[in-house]
Amino acid sequence: MKEEAASRNGKRKRQRNPKTPKEEPNETPKNQNNDKKRQRDTKTQKSNQHGGSSALSKRPTPSNFLDTLREKLSGGNFRRLNEKLYTCSGKEALDYFNEDPTLFDMYHTGYQQQMTNWPELPVNSIINWLSSRRSSLVVADFGCGDARIAKSVKNKVFSFDLVSKDPSVIACDMSNTPLESSSVDVAVFCLSLMGTNYSSYIKEAHRVLRPSGWLLIAEVKSRFDPNNGGADPKDFVKAVSDLGFSSSLKDFSNKMFILLHFKKKEQFNSNKKKIEWPELKACLYKRR
Ligand code: SAH
Repeated sequence: MKEEAASRNGKRKRQRNPKTPKEEPNETPKNQNNDKKRQRDTKTQKSNQHGGSSALSKRPTPSNFLDTLREKLSGGNFRRLNEKLYTCSGKEALDYFNEDPTLFDMYHTGYQQQMTNWPELPVNSIINWLSSRRSSLVVADFGCGDARIAKSVKNKVFSFDLVSKDPSVIACDMSNTPLESSSVDVAVFCLSLMGTNYSSYIKEAHRVLRPSGWLLIAEVKSRFDPNNGGADPKDFVKAVSDLGFSSSLKDFSNKMFILLHFKKKEQFNSNKKKIEWPELKACLYKRR
């Protein structure tokens, strides 16, 4: 079944982007490429209309030039903010966005553009998983972004992010949420294990989950590719298990993301042994 999913994904990817089936995220979304191509085509037509010899006709028109500049600046800002989030602690990230919440909008505009490159969004597989279960399950969405999960399912969802752009989102560093201990059934991290202290987010999920509660993690695949500087998934699964979870799903069938599901152990005698958390490779976007 997973193989089927993999080949379906492969097929879809090839159809949408036949030339560059890259696993690493691309910086320039496809529609921007099309826009650029359209701009180039328009320029060529104009240049041909003028006999193609005028130096002026080869320059972008002012509006095209400004659009290109704006595109480059916003792409650059997104890359910078994205790198910041992967290389600092959650506390630093919270202080950073609190100082200038407009940076959060800038980050999310870039993030949404990046997502247009993905043939399938991991958040949708989490929504499907939830939809196939009892809607009475209480969910905590750690690093919720635009709170798509809360908007898509019937369950009670507590949505957390560094900045609240919607009254339903609780602004906090997710290593320290206001939830009671053992109060939720499902904890979700969808592409949100970003901070250098990511283990403290998973510890917080363990605290707020009821015994037998679910921990669902979707992450960028390249972060878990040991042949490419990423973490060994086995080390990650072992660390989460040592915290008091048992692994219930390891799905690597998607080209872009992996899905890891765990269940909180009913009873767990922590022997206080130090957990070895592997470093998760930052997911940086290429400059194009
Ligand atoms: N889960 C969403 C958004 C993913 S982007 C989706 O799949 O679409 C990652 C999100 O995690 C960002 O919105 C970022 O602000 C948030 N995030 C990263 N570190 C965080 C932290 N320490 N506390 C709260 N949110 C955090």
